[in-house]
Amino acid sequence: MDINNLQRENIKNLRPYSTARDEYKGQASVFLDANENGYGSPLDQNFNRYPDPLQLDLKDALSKIKGVPIENTFLGNGSDEAIDLLFRAFCEPGKDNVIILPPTYGMYEVSANINNVEVRKVNLLPSFQLDLEKIAEAIDQHTKLIFICSPNNPTGNSIIRTDIETVLANFNGLVVIDEAYINYAKQRTFIPELTEYPNLVILQTFSKAWGLAALRLGMAFAARPVIDILNKVKPPYNINQATQDLALKALENIGQVNDWIKVTVAERENLSQELAALSLVKKVYPSDANFILIEVIDALKTYDALVEQGIIVRDRSKVSLCEGCLRITIGTTQENQILLAALKSLNP
Ligand SMILES: *Cc1c(COP(=O)(O)O)cnc(C)c1O
Repeated sequence: MDINNLQRENIKNLRPYSTARDEYKGQASVFLDANENGYGSPLDQNFNRYPDPLQLDLKDALSKIKGVPIENTFLGNGSDEAIDLLFRAFCEPGKDNVIILPPTYGMYEVSANINNVEVRKVNLLPSFQLDLEKIAEAIDQHTKLIFICSPNNPTGNSIIRTDIETVLANFNGLVVIDEAYINYAKQRTFIPELTEYPNLVILQTFSKAWGLAALRLGMAFAARPVIDILNKVKPPYNINQATQDLALKALENIGQVNDWIKVTVAERENLSQELAALSLVKKVYPSDANFILIEVIDALKTYDALVEQGIIVRDRSKVSLCEGCLRITIGTTQENQILLAALKSLNP
């Protein structure tokens, strides 16, 4: 499978922007090549120099944690940037199509619409697993991307591993596995499979378990040709210096992150049990993520009553296969207690 033939014709022929720092390699102390302000920044810290376009220091530190070589790592302004770049690099507007598997993360469809790329929807089965037959039927020669979110948002379950492998092995386009919630899952990451599948793209993010949503930093891991194409298409300085510095520091505190993951998983199990005991709750779906999908007797009424008490959850009741459902993020122990008390007060 030749990834280079998957990319759009104009991208294949694209000569990327060459930054001042790309054109000079070596030791120097006087940089007069990028029209920066050499005096500094009107801040305690200087941000007057353009950041490393390829974020090599950060990727190097990340490679030690993830076990993925630098050349197989792309960093984006949130994983949402990687999603958008996959459309821009691989999908010919008005001609190509992608497959998404609802109910799932909303950005895949929004990004497709922005890029004028047809979206083919193949609903998950009632078990929230892949409908492999329908996926196979939906694929044609213009299908470039299939998005599989695992653990899936908003349902919370992991997708059966062998089903994902079936798609990977049989589809001649890119299979994008969105692992935004992988840190909370019993199922392991697909990262070890990167060497096996040239068409595998794994998305992860600093926005969830890492607690850095406001920095906007996402990861894509893939075979070299895919990463090279994403790097060719991305804005030259897509990750700002403050984000690179802070993320590098955060990586030193992985112990803290792992502690929070343990607590959150314990809270998830506890909250699931407590919710299941409430009569207004019809069903608690098992979760491999840091949120729980629950079906309640009257979703809108419950949602409004929680808002009344200053508690905001996500109303998913109009999403197909999630009728009557709310999605609740696992908060701190204290936040979860407040939520439970509020729901108990509404219990008939
Ligand atoms: C939250 C989330 C993301 C994260 O997006 P960022 O742009 O990295 O903040 C990605 N995918 C899914 C499924 C999510 O729920």
